[in-house]
Amino acid sequence: MKYRIIPVTPFQQNCTLLWCEQTRKAAVVDPGGDLARIKAAVAEEGVQLEKILLTHAHIDHAGGSAALARELGLTIEGPERGDEFWIEGLPKQSQMFGFPDVEVFTPDRWLDDGDSVSFGEVTLEVIHCPGHTPGHVVFYHPESALALVGDVLFQGSIGRTDFPRGDHATLIRSIREKLFPLGDAIDFIPGHGPMSTFGAERQANPFVADRFG
Ligand SMILES: [Zn+2]
Repeated sequence: MKYRIIPVTPFQQNCTLLWCEQTRKAAVVDPGGDLARIKAAVAEEGVQLEKILLTHAHIDHAGGSAALARELGLTIEGPERGDEFWIEGLPKQSQMFGFPDVEVFTPDRWLDDGDSVSFGEVTLEVIHCPGHTPGHVVFYHPESALALVGDVLFQGSIGRTDFPRGDHATLIRSIREKLFPLGDAIDFIPGHGPMSTFGAERQANPFVADRFG
């Protein structure tokens, strides 16, 4: 599997294009906006976009989903159903943050912990990691030792939990009990900012380092 990070929206959200090297079939994770930039990346890489995968339904992650799906005939998979209220609230989120008009949608498939999603010959594991939002999921590709963690974990920080139905203790548990056991060597792409590894965060992250556990 290959990937390319495409920062989108005024929040510089790490939308990520993933593709299967054998088939050139691709999925885009969290197309929050700036669809022209995403489509340009798809064209430059010469891949065939098949589906949209969503970690959670905050506007900077999910805001472009409906328009992109309709325009390119893509399916939308994720997040977990706990984020349905955030999808219904996309127009309000858009107003609040000054984003362009946004369409509400219903995912073609809600995801659950233990599910898998695939494109071409690539299969990603789905890990439900609530706390930042109740329906947040992480996509994990064991063969690449790579996880796309959305707004669960960042280099040196963790996701906000002051939004409706956010919960700090739940988020910490998601990170420590579901992500860190995948292994120190796992690289992760966060929803914002630079990549890191679970091992580096266990060492130095002021919110979830082992020594604060
Ligand atoms: Zn978020």
